[in-house]
Amino acid sequence: MADLALTSVDMFENFNDVVGLPGIDIHVTQRGYLFVTDDAAQLPALKKAVAQYQAIGIPGAEYIRTDDLHKRFPFLAPQALGATFNMRDGWLSTHEATYGFAKGAGDAAFFMKTHVTDIQTDSQGVIAVKTDKGTISTRLVVNCAGPFAGVTGKMAGLDMPLRTVRRQKAYIKTDHPDLPASAPFTVDLVNHGYWRPEAGGLLCAWVDPDEPESPSADELPTDWDFAAESIYRVSRLNPFLEKVADNLKAEDVNVSAGQYVYTPDDKPVIGPSGEIEGFHLNCGYWCGVMMSPAAGKRVAEIANGKMDNTDNPLRYSRFREGDFEKGDTFLK
Ligand SMILES: Cc1cc2nc3c(=O)[nH]c(=O)nc-3n(C[C@H](O)[C@H](O)[C@H](O)COP(=O)(O)OP(=O)(O)OC[C@H]3O[C@@H](n4cnc5c(N)ncnc54)[C@H](O)[C@@H]3O)c2cc1C
Repeated sequence: MADLALTSVDMFENFNDVVGLPGIDIHVTQRGYLFVTDDAAQLPALKKAVAQYQAIGIPGAEYIRTDDLHKRFPFLAPQALGATFNMRDGWLSTHEATYGFAKGAGDAAFFMKTHVTDIQTDSQGVIAVKTDKGTISTRLVVNCAGPFAGVTGKMAGLDMPLRTVRRQKAYIKTDHPDLPASAPFTVDLVNHGYWRPEAGGLLCAWVDPDEPESPSADELPTDWDFAAESIYRVSRLNPFLEKVADNLKAEDVNVSAGQYVYTPDDKPVIGPSGEIEGFHLNCGYWCGVMMSPAAGKRVAEIANGKMDNTDNPLRYSRFREGDFEKGDTFLK
C-alpha cells in the first residue's frame, strides 16, 4: 500500500511530466494529514505508527506532542495531546486529474455516457463487452467499475468478495474569519470526525463504524442530520467550527454521498482475475484517489506482461491462497 501511495504522490507532484502535457493544473495541495487525539492511551500507537511510516520510506512523518502541536496548529482545542503528521500528504482536484490522464492517453478512445450491460466469454475467456451503444470485441477487459465492480464482475461470471458501504461528506460554505484556511486535513482519532479547508469554505465528515453495507445503487440517499453530526464531532478538537456553525444557513450546507468498497483485507485487488482469461481487476478501493496513478500503471504492466503477477501482493488469488492479512487503521 505504501509502495502504491508513494509512487502515486510522486506522479501527482510531477503530473505534467507523467501525462506529457504542459499546463494542466490538478491543484495538488500539500498541507499534510494531521491525525490528532486527546486520549493519552492512544499516544503509544501514534508514536509506533510514525516509526513504521519512517521505516517504510516516509521520512517526513512526524509524531508531534503538546506544546509543539499547539504552536504549529493553534486552531486545535487545548486538550489535544498528540498527533501524527506528514506535510507531503494532501489533496487534489480529481476532475482535473481524471481528464488530465485521459488527455495524455494518446490514441485511447473514450466512450462517454456508455453503459456496460454484459461481458461475454467463450472457451478462451473474455471475447466482448456489450454496452447500451453497441458491442466492443476484445480479449482484454479491466473491471474498474468502483462500487459497481461486483455487479460488473458478475457479468463475466466472477463472484468477488466486495462490500460497498455508503460514505457521506458535508460541504460548508463560509467566509468566517476564524476558519484556519491553511489548516491540514485534520482527523479526530477519538470520535472519527474530520475536516479540511476547501475553496469557499470547508469539508467535514465522520466515519460511522456502524454504517451498514449498502447495495451498489445508482442513487444514494443522504442523511438530513449528517452535516450537524459532523460539525458536532469535528468541533470537539476544532472549536472554531462551533462559531462557524452559529451563523450557518441551510443553503450554506451541502451533503453528498458515495461508496467505499471493502475487500476481506481492506486492500484493493489489482491484476488478472485468474478464473476468466483476459478479465483483469482494479477495484476494491476506499482510498482509491490516493493510489490511482500507481495502481493504473500496475494494472497495465501486468496486462502487458511487464510485471509478473506472482510478484504482486494485491493479486486476486491472495484470497484463495489465504495469503492476506487485515492490518490496523486509525479510522475504522
Ligand atoms: C465521501 C467520500 C470521500 C472520499 N474521500 C477520499 C479521499 O480523501 N481520498 C481517497 O483516496 N479516496 C477517497 N474516497 C474514495 C474514492 O472516491 C474511491 O476510492 C475512488 O473513487 C475509487 O476509484 P475507482 O476508479 O475504483 O471507482 P470510481 O471513481 O467510482 O469510478 C468507477 C467508474 O466506473 C463507472 N461504471 C460503473 N459501472 C459501470 C457500467 N456498468 N458501465 C459503464 N461504466 C460504469 C462509474 O460511472 C465510474 O465512473 C472517498 C469516497 C467517498 C464516498
